[in-house]
Order: sequence, then C-alpha cells, then structure tokens
Amino acid sequence: MGKVYLLDVTNRDGVQTAKLGLSKLAKTMINIYLNEMGVYQSEFGFPTTRHESHYLQANLKLAEMGVLKPIRLGGWIRATTEDVERAFRLVPNIKHLQLSISTSDQMLTGKFKGAKSRQDILLTAAEAIDAAKSHGAETIGVNAEDASRTDTDFLLQFASVAKEHGADRFRYCDTLGYDNPLTIYKIGKMLAKEVAMPIEVHCHGDLGMAVANSVTGALGIIDGGQDAYINTTINGIGERAGNADLVAVVLALKKSKGLAKKYKFGMPIQLSMAWKICKYASYAFDVPIPINQPGVGANAFAHASGIHADGVLKDPQNYELYDFKELGRGEPDIVETGREICSGEYSGISGFGHVMGKMEIRFEHRDSAEKILELARYANVLAQKPLVADELRFIAKYPDITKELLTLAPLT
Ligand SMILES: [Zn+2]
Repeated sequence: MGKVYLLDVTNRDGVQTAKLGLSKLAKTMINIYLNEMGVYQSEFGFPTTRHESHYLQANLKLAEMGVLKPIRLGGWIRATTEDVERAFRLVPNIKHLQLSISTSDQMLTGKFKGAKSRQDILLTAAEAIDAAKSHGAETIGVNAEDASRTDTDFLLQFASVAKEHGADRFRYCDTLGYDNPLTIYKIGKMLAKEVAMPIEVHCHGDLGMAVANSVTGALGIIDGGQDAYINTTINGIGERAGNADLVAVVLALKKSKGLAKKYKFGMPIQLSMAWKICKYASYAFDVPIPINQPGVGANAFAHASGIHADGVLKDPQNYELYDFKELGRGEPDIVETGREICSGEYSGISGFGHVMGKMEIRFEHRDSAEKILELARYANVLAQKPLVADELRFIAKYPDITKELLTLAPLT
C-alpha cells in the first residue's frame, strides 16, 4: 500500500507570492525546520535565478555536511532544455529537480497564444527530462501546470511520456484551485492506476479547499496503488489564496475520522515542530497567523462560553480533538516588556555580546565575536528586522555557510 510524503513548497510557491518574500537566511531556517519536522522534500528555490545561486549552493553544502539530512532539496525550473542547462550551469551540484510546463488548452491558447501545440508540450518536456538525466539529476518530478483544467486523455499521455523518459514523480497541479475533493480523488486514483508512478498533488485555496483536495487527492493516489506526495506550504502561504497548509494537512491525515488507520506517512512526522515552524514563518514573512488557524491559531485551544469551558475543564476531549502539546504548544512565550537589546544592521560589539550571552553563546576571542557580529549585521540588512535566536545560533555555528548565504552578486 502506498504512503503519504510531504513535499513543502514554501521556499518556492510561498516566496513567489505577491507582496511577500524571505531572506536567504530565512529560507535556510525553513529548510532546517522542515527537515526536523520529517518533511520528505523542500522545494528550496529557483536554480535558474541568479540571486538564488549562493543560497542554493550553501544549502546543498549543509546537506553534504549532514545538517539538512534526510530532507531532499529540489529546485523548480521550467521544463525546457534551456532551463535545465542554465540550472546546472548556475548550481552544478543540484540533485533534485521539478520540471514544470502548462498542459491545459486554456494555457496553450491563452498563454502560449497558439505558439505551442500539445505535441510541442510533450516534446519539450521529454527533451528537458532527457537533458536533466544526462546532467546527472538524481530525481526528477514533472509538473503539469493547470492539470485540473487539462483534457484527461492528454494529461494521461503527458504523464506517460514523462515516465517513459525516466521521471520519478508526476505532479498534478490544481493551479487555480478548481478541483473539489470528489474530482481530485477520482483523477488521482485514475492517474495512479494508469500511469503507475508516484503522484504529487499541488493544490490551491481559491475555493477554500486546498487542504481537503490535497488529502482526498492523496487518498485517491494511494487507493490507485501508488505513493502520494502532498505539496504544502507553512501557514498556507502561496499564490493568491494560498496553498495547502502544512500543519492542517498533517492534522487531517492524523486526526480525521478513520484516516490514520488506513493511510500512513512514509516518514515519521514530528507534529511537535508545528508551533515553532508556523511562528517562525509568520515572523519571517510578516504575515500574522489567523486567530482561527487549525492547530496553531490563538483560538485553536481557547474556550470562553460556559458549556464549552465547563466541558473542556472536565475532560479536554469533550471539546478538543487533539492536545495542544502535540503541536509543541504550551511553553510560555517570553516577551520583553522592559529594556530590550536586539540585533540590527548597526549593532555594536557590546549589545551583540549581550544578545548572544543571553543564549549562552560566548566567544573565546574578540576577533571571532566581531566576525560573527559582522555577519549578523549583513543578515539584518537583508532581513530588515531583528534576527531570532535560532538565526543567531546558526550564524555563530556556520559562519562560512552564512557568508555564502549573504552573498548577493548582481550581474557584472
Ligand atoms: Zn502553486
């Protein structure tokens, strides 16, 4: 029986969202937290985009060092030979790639304006897969953009061509959030049976069904006999109305009526990381967590009305489906209400020493403290907000990697 794997796309779909973005250090922290959470793969960025090159290579080094392990780091590119060539030129040691191309008639006529036929789409994708293989890509996922509005026979043909050319997974993209739980279950099952390869579901929330669609899509794929890979983002941050929320997907699969008995994760998921990763992403993106967000919202375990408060005090299970501790909640948040010294792009050695000392990080020599301070200043320039403790710890522990992360070299 197939299993469920999580493939998080916060560092790709999340950061390409209008009005939002993350510093390269923040993207790295997200990869680290996703790894700790048990996520199979992080779609960690864009190998053809020049300002990503140092960040991507620094994160691949962290993988080699065993810091980002066992998580896989996959880059997103268009499914063209040119993009594959450019990706391997800019990030030579990239190992995992997602190749994406539109497959719907809407996109063929509306976006490509008739310049590409269905046959051209098949050919372009096949050539891109061949090129990625010849460059030594270890795994290749092939994405059908706008799959949910694609003619089913053509989608089947596209997925089959991808498989024949050696793709490892097929990504079914509900790019516009057009599916519903019934339609995506059906097509997920059909694709799994007919194409007989692992399938990803990539769902958006334009109709408020991203999580439900991801879950039922995955069930369809597993019922069709294949492994299912669910694309998620932290706090559901993504294009327009967003993607399937990572924590809500995990909760749905673990806690929804009857699901956990039948459908299993391929890797153990540390749900206790939920609070930390969601709070961090909220801070890094500057997007507050909605009060009613599943699991991590301020009201997820709050009770006021008489009957509910009385019931939950007698037995939490009366009005709570799961315990807050399971999500890593319950520790008090320490918020300074008096004097505060924080990191900044103009920090000096004294204030910096105070901040690091509070985390029990001490430096043997002033030189090494100044080196780390200099890196922290640059990290602050890019973040434009005080660094959090884990970021400062990271900088102190991996100064050379940090230097690479902070290197942004424009075209010369
Ligand atoms: Zn998307």
